[in-house]
Amino acid sequence: MQVPPKDLTTSDEPSAGVRRVITGLGASGGIVIGRVFVMDRQYIQISRKPIAEDAVGAETKRLHDGVAESIDQLRRLKSQSSTADSAASEELGFLLDAYIHMLTQSRLVRGAEDLIVTRKLNAVHAVSDVIDAIAEQFSGMDDRYIAARATDIREVGLRLMRCLMGETDRVVDKAPKGAILIAEDVSPADMARFQPGQLTAFVTALGGAEGHTAIMARSLGIPAVLGAADIIRGVSGGDQIIVDGGRGEVILSPTDADIAHYTQRRADWLAARDKLASLRDVPSATRDEVDIDLHANIELPIELSAALENGAGGIGLLRSEFMFMNKDYLPDEDEQYGELADIVKRMGGKPVTIRTLDIGGEKLAVALQADMGTGPNPALGLRGVRLSLRKPELLEAQFGAILRASLHGSVRVLIPMVVGVHEMTRARHIYEAVAKRLRKEGHAIPETLPPLGAMIEIPAAAIAIDTLARECDFFAIGTNDLTQYTLAIDRTDDQVAGLYDPLHPAVLRLIRDVIRVAGERGIPVSVCGEMAGDPRYVPLFIGFGLRNLSMSPVNLLLVKQRLRRLDTRNSEHQANRVMEQWDSARIAMMLDDFNDLA
Ligand code: PEP
Ligand code: MG
Repeated sequence: MQVPPKDLTTSDEPSAGVRRVITGLGASGGIVIGRVFVMDRQYIQISRKPIAEDAVGAETKRLHDGVAESIDQLRRLKSQSSTADSAASEELGFLLDAYIHMLTQSRLVRGAEDLIVTRKLNAVHAVSDVIDAIAEQFSGMDDRYIAARATDIREVGLRLMRCLMGETDRVVDKAPKGAILIAEDVSPADMARFQPGQLTAFVTALGGAEGHTAIMARSLGIPAVLGAADIIRGVSGGDQIIVDGGRGEVILSPTDADIAHYTQRRADWLAARDKLASLRDVPSATRDEVDIDLHANIELPIELSAALENGAGGIGLLRSEFMFMNKDYLPDEDEQYGELADIVKRMGGKPVTIRTLDIGGEKLAVALQADMGTGPNPALGLRGVRLSLRKPELLEAQFGAILRASLHGSVRVLIPMVVGVHEMTRARHIYEAVAKRLRKEGHAIPETLPPLGAMIEIPAAAIAIDTLARECDFFAIGTNDLTQYTLAIDRTDDQVAGLYDPLHPAVLRLIRDVIRVAGERGIPVSVCGEMAGDPRYVPLFIGFGLRNLSMSPVNLLLVKQRLRRLDTRNSEHQANRVMEQWDSARIAMMLDDFNDLA
């Protein structure tokens, strides 16, 4: 069955409203003027397949889990909206409270439970039927206020159905070409389903500027504003709006003057991008001719062309999660080999650093949900190498695929979320066993196995870096998680986004020390977190002695432009001065000054 959008909301017609500016987090720069597509108000497919007698218990539990998740989402929205400063947010707060109430021991939940037990309906089907029944009663009433509650109950029911159906059933891919997507939240898995050129920008009510959704938006070059709480009730499908991803602003019902102004700003932005393109083939070296490797981070294979167009010297971080997203099965060694071999071949001999699975935290895979459960704090839970060692068959399939793909080019293997040397020892043990198995099976793999290295993104690993040096052929510093875990700031939480501070002296000391120890031991080291793609930080990294940075493809040329004006000795001097500071605001100012002088 399809539930048409008009049943879900009364405001799907473009609204001829008053001009309004909504602010959020500027997650990915760029200016777009376009028409809105509201993701969460679209069609939803409901399976009418009945459940087996012995599945009633599990289906009831699924219903309760879905209810709990819906309430959790509504609470998050409520606390996000309370930080936005407007009368509309207060009203939104009341409404969300009412929605939470509708999910707590309500007729909706009791009715659905009953249908699962008595009529063996699956949970989504049961919720849909109860919602239809309640909404029909409401809308038949004379009182206009009560009749309008039919819309609210449908809104709540739709949220619950989406939670029950999981990520695979969301409908991002229905957005018309060229639309600006508006959604409560966009997950990394949703991003993986966007078709190239499908969306021109997106705006969400939730989400932090350092999470994977933001990273993917930046690397795909899609302007994005996240954490803009007011947006969900501010727009309707078809509205014309302006998104300024750099400033984190969304202009609703823009005036003619706005359109003229932003059309010019968009043209300037595009012209600056074209000008940078001339740097593509010039060497990435400092003024005193020290070569610096500039590599690309890749989340999805479609970014590969951007990496090559922007002159990437290699891939410094291939996040292998893309192979697991939006699938309800685990891809086997052969399937992964096919995907990886293709990427390695396309890089034509340039180095490719493939990271093993880092599912967990905000990055979820449907097929692994049962193994991972829902820990109270996913960022501190079963994530990265912890999961891979708990389920070694995951690592075996990945190592097998990577080793076979490595025959087509130059490959390195990177292990995420490493906290201690024991994890690397176990990973290496499995790595060598897989190599042995492949040889026995007659697969061609390189004589010398590709280097095996660790992500340094947990403070413990950075502090005890000398112990890891024993088992690692290289290090890649992940500043996103290193900042998150050092400062205890969730990188995806919009409420603490303002406190996420990679220039905190503690974070900088960890980075500097890892680079120093790696240099002393002759172990190659790179930085592959988002900091690497910010041109302001380049003198600092070069001054620390770093010679390899990996970043979103869109930042490669900006960083190259910056480093070609630098001198390594001068950068060293500047980095030493920065490290004498204790205040990150002062550090930021100093870096701005260095950049102005260059
Ligand atoms: C990091 O943590 O800095 C990193 C590069 O890994 P990810 O962003 O994929 O967690
Ligand atoms: Mg990380």
